[in-house]
Amino acid sequence: MTETDKGLFCAHCGSAMVDSSIISGVASCQICGWTGNVNELVAIPFNQKVGSPEEVLRQLSLEIRQLLAKNTATEFVRLLIKWGFIGQQIDKNEVARYFGVVAKNIATGLIEARQEIERERMARS
Ligand SMILES: [Zn+2]
Repeated sequence: MTETDKGLFCAHCGSAMVDSSIISGVASCQICGWTGNVNELVAIPFNQKVGSPEEVLRQLSLEIRQLLAKNTATEFVRLLIKWGFIGQQIDKNEVARYFGVVAKNIATGLIEARQEIERERMARS
């Protein structure tokens, strides 16, 4: 198994929001504040090839983008026209760019919400 086949989770609270450095061997959790050795992190295999938080964000954005393009393209373009983001003469590159940025921000928002939920969960327990 390679590094990209598994996710690393906090040994203390199980959060995925961990900072780790293979080079220094030090890991810390953004949720519960745990710090320790990288080897202490719980490694869980992913069914997808995702690794670093950046890669997770990239993959998630890509999937959201595909989902939006597949299911909401017409409505989304209509909304962009209505709000004046694009003109009646549709520029496909502009539309693609808006789709990209919307997908990325949804992905970022989801991850932020997940972090908040985990923090709240920790505060309660
Ligand atoms: Zn933790």
